[in-house]
Amino acid sequence: MGTNQDTLIHAIAADGQIRCMAAVTTNLVAEACRRHRTFPTASAALGRALTGTLLLGAGVKDLEKITVHFDCEGPIGNIVTQSDAHGNVRGYVSNPEADVTSMNAMGKFDVRAVVGGGTMYVTRDAGFDIGLVKEPYRGSVPIVSGEIAEDFAYYLLKSEQINSAVGLGVLMTVDTADHSVAEVAGGPEFALDRLRTAAAGGFIVQLMPGADETVINHLEKSLAITPNSSEMVHEGRSAEEMLRSILGDLDLKVLGESHPRFACQCSRERAILIISGLGSEEVADMLQKDGGAELTCHFCNELYRITGDELSAIVAVRE
Ligand code: ZN
Repeated sequence: MGTNQDTLIHAIAADGQIRCMAAVTTNLVAEACRRHRTFPTASAALGRALTGTLLLGAGVKDLEKITVHFDCEGPIGNIVTQSDAHGNVRGYVSNPEADVTSMNAMGKFDVRAVVGGGTMYVTRDAGFDIGLVKEPYRGSVPIVSGEIAEDFAYYLLKSEQINSAVGLGVLMTVDTADHSVAEVAGGPEFALDRLRTAAAGGFIVQLMPGADETVINHLEKSLAITPNSSEMVHEGRSAEEMLRSILGDLDLKVLGESHPRFACQCSRERAILIISGLGSEEVADMLQKDGGAELTCHFCNELYRITGDELSAIVAVRE
């Protein structure tokens, strides 16, 4: 356990005219990047998407889970992230080695260059309702920015008609030989094993319909000077402090706080179930040719080795 747990809060401000969420996600992003061995730019893209997905599901009533899928034309391929009602977050990218050696004009990771265009899909699974499974809600929008945060804002505006400001940030550092820490600029110079997720986090601030002009103006001015989310987290600000610095003197009422984590639902039992679902010939073939089977979970990169004895048992059950 790290000394600082990740935190997610949801809140209202300005007497309910603003709905807002913020999260510190350094640990869960670090765990995702460690598991998938993502290069710096892919780390930033995955970390932003994980944080955005967590924020999107924050405070949503009856939410079972939310899945965000960026189907990208750029070299990263797919970015798939998921968060459930209990703060379990998981995700992956198709190409963890997608990377751009130069930073963009803002001195940030050039996430847009690895994402490119494409489509963003959001699926919300609601809970069970009087014995009937509610239809999942699905929305999709074109990827308009590729910087992830702007894409979440565009999705909220176009698909859910909510005017939102979204900030998502990931700061990566490299432990150098003399144990000092340098901000990583991507590129071929870094060593993957010394890459660290130093800070990650984000916020979503939403204007409710009918918000006062004065509140809107105040918020716009304040957002214009708000530091990057990863900088705020790196300075040690909590999720609540991030919202306070964005909202300035508007009153803030925190409605809920939780501690999200990277967690996957896969297990050895599930891996065996998947093999059991394959055709008899296929299983017999695995046994004969490979003497076993290997399955890797996409979401967490966990490798499951199924032994020859276990395969034999699966075949035997059917005979
Ligand atoms: Zn898994």
